[in-house]
Amino acid sequence: MKPFDYAVPRSVDEAVRAASAPNTRFIAGGTNLIDLMKIEVETPAHLVDLNPLAESDSTLRSVGDAPGGGLRIGALTPMSDVAWDPRVKERYPVLSQALLLGASGQLRNMASMDSMQSGHCSTCSRMEAASRSGSATPSSRPTSNAR
Ligand SMILES: Cc1cc2nc3c(=O)[nH]c(=O)nc-3n(C[C@H](O)[C@H](O)[C@H](O)COP(=O)(O)OP(=O)(O)OC[C@H]3O[C@@H](n4cnc5c(N)ncnc54)[C@H](O)[C@@H]3O)c2cc1C
Repeated sequence: MKPFDYAVPRSVDEAVRAASAPNTRFIAGGTNLIDLMKIEVETPAHLVDLNPLAESDSTLRSVGDAPGGGLRIGALTPMSDVAWDPRVKERYPVLSQALLLGASGQLRNMASMDSMQSGHCSTCSRMEAASRSGSATPSSRPTSNAR
């Protein structure tokens, strides 16, 4: 693994400022990024840890009701919390089952919902690209009952 420095921002503004340095990656649970760093597929010079942001904004790490129906899943919410949320289990049982079947308990407890593997979906790829260009912001992704 190549050497890197590690920033612990206390606000979204600080996180965005830190991420504007070249070759910076955000890190959430680290379950994907650290593996890629170990095999030097990813070689960031700077890591910006997003987890402290949930201390001042709990919506980043929780499941909540969205205005107009549906649920809002905070970007830093671990897969486990989403899978076991009673509203997800009742209203989105396939999502809950997929999360429970998709990885071991250890991974589910660490892996966040807004950092899906590169190339798995277009939104994820766009976020990765924005992260690389330094324009990404930690986000929450709403789901809708209407779908
Ligand atoms: C066994 C297993 C099965 C998996 N199955 C699937 C699957 O079926 N579908 C799928 O899509 N993925 C799958 N993955 C990948 C999984 O989604 C990711 O490993 C997990 O979501 C990463 O979460 P993390 O918080 O550990 O991310 P990290 O490893 O911390 O980060 C991963 C990437 O996302 C970026 N990132 C993290 N948080 C944010 C944020 N809030 N805003 C912007 N960028 C951010 C990071 O910079 C990094 O590039 C699987 C992984 C494992 C280990």
